[in-house]
Amino acid sequence: MIPKLILSLLIITCVSCEKFRFDNYTLYKILPKDLNEIKVLQNLYDSDTRFDFWRDPVPNAEYVTVVSAPKYKGELEGLLNRSGIAFEVAMQNIQNAIDKERVGQYNRNNIWSMRWDRYYDLSAINAWLDDLARQFPSLVTIVSAGTSYEGRDIKGVKISHGEGRRIIFIESGIHSREWITPSTVCYAISQLLTSTDPETMAAARDFDWYIFPVTNPDGYVWTHTEFRLWRKNRRPYGSEFGVDLNRNWNSNWLVRGSSTNPSSINYAGPGPFSEPETKHLADYLRPLADRIELYLSMHSSGQLLLIPFGNTTEPLANYHDALNIGRRAMGALSVRYGTPYTTGNVAEAIYYATGITVDWVKEHLHVPLVYIYELRDRGTYGHLLPPDQILPTAEETMDSFLDLIHQARRFGYMNSGNSLSVSLGMKIILGITVLQRFL
Ligand SMILES: [Zn+2]
Repeated sequence: MIPKLILSLLIITCVSCEKFRFDNYTLYKILPKDLNEIKVLQNLYDSDTRFDFWRDPVPNAEYVTVVSAPKYKGELEGLLNRSGIAFEVAMQNIQNAIDKERVGQYNRNNIWSMRWDRYYDLSAINAWLDDLARQFPSLVTIVSAGTSYEGRDIKGVKISHGEGRRIIFIESGIHSREWITPSTVCYAISQLLTSTDPETMAAARDFDWYIFPVTNPDGYVWTHTEFRLWRKNRRPYGSEFGVDLNRNWNSNWLVRGSSTNPSSINYAGPGPFSEPETKHLADYLRPLADRIELYLSMHSSGQLLLIPFGNTTEPLANYHDALNIGRRAMGALSVRYGTPYTTGNVAEAIYYATGITVDWVKEHLHVPLVYIYELRDRGTYGHLLPPDQILPTAEETMDSFLDLIHQARRFGYMNSGNSLSVSLGMKIILGITVLQRFL
């Protein structure tokens, strides 16, 4: 993490400056072998904001990742060596990975110019969504979940083949530096509209899909123009900027895993729903609540599928069903490229965190199935996933979306309408091999 003072100066003076460079900032992958070693890392996490933890030191962490500025690397390595904690350098110079992150140009009025080996900025994504609405006027409606602090539209699409269907709601990009999430859900949008795979077509037909690729547009723009590793929104608080929008929801707000310090990467804001992005999204969700069957909150990284709640490891609500459905869907995700995912409760699998989106959705909207995805990878590149992994990530994630639907139906969820018999019938008739994995 950049020292707070330097970061503040940087942001204050950065209105007209060049994009910040992370030359010789190093990503460490730390491999603690017991709880004592975890405690050393937790102490560092709690007491020292110079280091940017990408995976937190939770009690059962397989690994912890942390970025250090060049001038603090000796101190960090010294602490790890003195404590006997194993670590490896995942990336010596993260600026190299940033330089390789190709950002594509989208050609207006040509939906096929959106490529899956490029990242895109906000204007490109929004232009593409507008073009999809023109290309598929009977299926795609542009929707808005309000405006951000800086006045940007929180734009999404509704894909619907007719009125009255149950809803699958996908929210992505709330942590702005997690670029793989907008790319992955844009790919899902493209598949729902253009795929000829019968299972994908059935999924598109059977549900109303609400998909918001970038729910933190101000932060996302900032990652493209000024500071690649920005996570929060861009609202100023004193001399600091930004609230962690995934700690600002009105569900056990500020109870665990969040901060009252505006300079913290986990700053929860001055109160629940203090931020326009979360408040407007909540207002948008409430009238839809009765129809939402499945809510997906897209994050990276770690290859995890997480189930509410973030403040307790107690198996609340329909936890066991959600776990079983999720585990099976992650099996389907691994078929294509062998990518392993772990499924579990937020608090046990990743961190104690409250005020998070999915907890509010589960607690207040009573949506039957609610998940967080933490997409690729497991500590090699973290938030700087190379562009040649965009398509594989998006493909395997789409596989899992379809299997979530399939498994949910097996467990008695998402069964409204007669779509199950139609989609299974089509698979049998066409002899689609994908069916094999369901048997
Ligand atoms: Zn995130």
